[in-house]
Amino acid sequence: MSTELITMSAAQLAEKLAAREISSVEATQAHLNRIADVDGDIHAFLHVSEAALSTAASVDAARGGGAQLGPLAGVPVAIKDVLCTFDMPSTSGSKILEGYIPPYDATVVRKLREANLVPLGKTNMDEFAMGSSTEHSAYGPTKNPWDLERIPGGSGGGSAAAVSAFEAPLALGSDTGGSIRQPAAVTGSVGMKPTYGGVSRYGAIALASSLDQVGPVARSVLDAALLHDVIGGYDPHDATSLTDTWPSFAEAARAGRNGESLKGLRVGVVAELNGEGFQAGVRQRFDEAVALLAKAGAEIVEVAAPSFEYAISAYYLILPAEASSNLAKFDSVRFGLRVTPEGGGTVEEVMAATREAGFGPEVKRRIILGTYALSAGYYDAYYGSAQKVRTLIQRDFSAAFEKADVLVSPAAPTTAFRFGEKLDDPLAMYLNDITTIPANLAGVPGMGLPIGLAPEDGLPVGIQLMAPAREDARLYTVGAGLETLLEEQWGGSLLAQAPALGVER
Ligand code: GLN
Repeated sequence: MSTELITMSAAQLAEKLAAREISSVEATQAHLNRIADVDGDIHAFLHVSEAALSTAASVDAARGGGAQLGPLAGVPVAIKDVLCTFDMPSTSGSKILEGYIPPYDATVVRKLREANLVPLGKTNMDEFAMGSSTEHSAYGPTKNPWDLERIPGGSGGGSAAAVSAFEAPLALGSDTGGSIRQPAAVTGSVGMKPTYGGVSRYGAIALASSLDQVGPVARSVLDAALLHDVIGGYDPHDATSLTDTWPSFAEAARAGRNGESLKGLRVGVVAELNGEGFQAGVRQRFDEAVALLAKAGAEIVEVAAPSFEYAISAYYLILPAEASSNLAKFDSVRFGLRVTPEGGGTVEEVMAATREAGFGPEVKRRIILGTYALSAGYYDAYYGSAQKVRTLIQRDFSAAFEKADVLVSPAAPTTAFRFGEKLDDPLAMYLNDITTIPANLAGVPGMGLPIGLAPEDGLPVGIQLMAPAREDARLYTVGAGLETLLEEQWGGSLLAQAPALGVER
């Protein structure tokens, strides 16, 4: 039973909890046991909650007392360490915030608690969400459950690894340039970056405010949708929050499972997000997935997005510029670490010593880049030009969405690479987000979901689906439709093929 408790989907777990076939304490204990068993190898968690079992017990008590609880009540969830939690350290993967416990919860965390989910702990990430491998975490990397010598993606490698190693049925991530979708792709999980403004960022430690979105990581499209339903919606604490009333994403996902929605769906293949530099097995699985959509009645169209070629260049000006400003608040006075030079020092010297000791090399690199791009003489040449490119990318999306209902591309150019392979080459690391960054620059929603294993290395490959802003529900419907077709081929979920890590199936 305990194996079943960790391998079943969040939707199944929720049903059994609602039917009182199992208790939240049992479900939570099974996941804590799993964490104790495998997290020494995986290192998905930076912190495991001491309150998980007592939270679970109070959910059980409420249910026992006849309270009407939400659809995911009693289901455990892991939380990326970029999100503030009042009862657990929140470090964003950085030494500068070591031991920092915020005085409040991020809105999404508050919503999890109000919906009676059970926070299991905080997951590892690249420092301040900068990276594609978790190798930039100040607390050491997370391993990919499919192959412990390989990266789990980044920056949200901890959340993706926790979900794919059955340490948590659900997790929260954040996606500024791909940090939900790319880790999902390389671990065989599902990740969704919502429409910009669809999910509150209040209490998410900001990387680049015009790009950041919080979103769900899960093992199925329906599970991601259920979590999105909990965390989404207007938040007066976030000035960029949309006031829209959103449809039920779970309903959208359930509607997709009969495959009807794929008939006549116009699927746009973005030529610029595939091709040179992409791994052969990634391209093969992607082409097969597109063929499967066509077989189910979708109309496949080629769309051109010529400005996407410049997306990475624009992103690596806009992101560092915003990050350098957001990270200025780590000044040794307000939060976390303070390092005083030997014999004392001025305020400036303490600040410099603290930032020198507290930030890792990638963070320093981006602060320097961003400060330079924003400096008076270069502002127009760099930041200004990048913003113009951003507009061109948004126009490419608008034109593409006239021809297609959803756009598709591989979710990442390669499968999981080995530790160290790209660590000393920032540009090679940056190229991992070539397919995911355009959606952040335009604010449109994007979903990554598994489409098979690459023949050459047996590692998971993901597809990315993108829709116009506010059409998140469409991605859940189409994603669930494609997932159903794939699972018919595989005879179950892709993760059922993962190396067992001691899980009996
Ligand atoms: N890998 C990208 C970066 O390093 C994406 C980061 C993210 O989405 N948080 O910036």
